[in-house]
Amino acid sequence: MNPQTNGKPAEGCVFCQIDSGRLPSIRIYEDQDFLAFMDIAPVTEGHFLLATRAHYPTLLEMPEKLLARALPLAQKLARAALDGLSASGVNLLQNNGEVAGQAVPHWHLHIIPRRRPGELPLRPGAPADVTQLPFTAEKIIRGLK
Ligand code: 5GP
Ligand code: ZN
Repeated sequence: MNPQTNGKPAEGCVFCQIDSGRLPSIRIYEDQDFLAFMDIAPVTEGHFLLATRAHYPTLLEMPEKLLARALPLAQKLARAALDGLSASGVNLLQNNGEVAGQAVPHWHLHIIPRRRPGELPLRPGAPADVTQLPFTAEKIIRGLK
């Protein structure tokens, strides 16, 4: 089945239900396009989500107009979190697709205030095989055409 791309509420979608108020949430921001609310299972204290109000499953279906608003808004919210919570850093994380760890298929960006190293289980990868990197890069470049 193709992903839904028309932005209409999706049956059974948790974040559509949060948007409509059918499911409760602790909101920190809303405007005509976006909603920000506290994550129910925070990775660090103050972890929250910025989500579109309209239902777009992933980054790949998002209209450019919304994408253009998303990052400046994330900056504003990240600044507020840093100031308000006396955090010293912030991670922005955005999962697309089940294999990438996306559990809720409605576009959202994690905003994760940081205070200490090691709070997130992010590990650097193994060193790249530098003889292979150009070939991998070439495959991506071909995808741009
Ligand atoms: P994903 O894995 O899709 O990138 O992240 C989904 C996030 O949504 C998770 O961090 C999870 O804790 C959060 N989440 C899932 N269900 C709910 C809910 O009903 N309310 C809130 N506030 N957060 C939720
Ligand atoms: Zn939705």
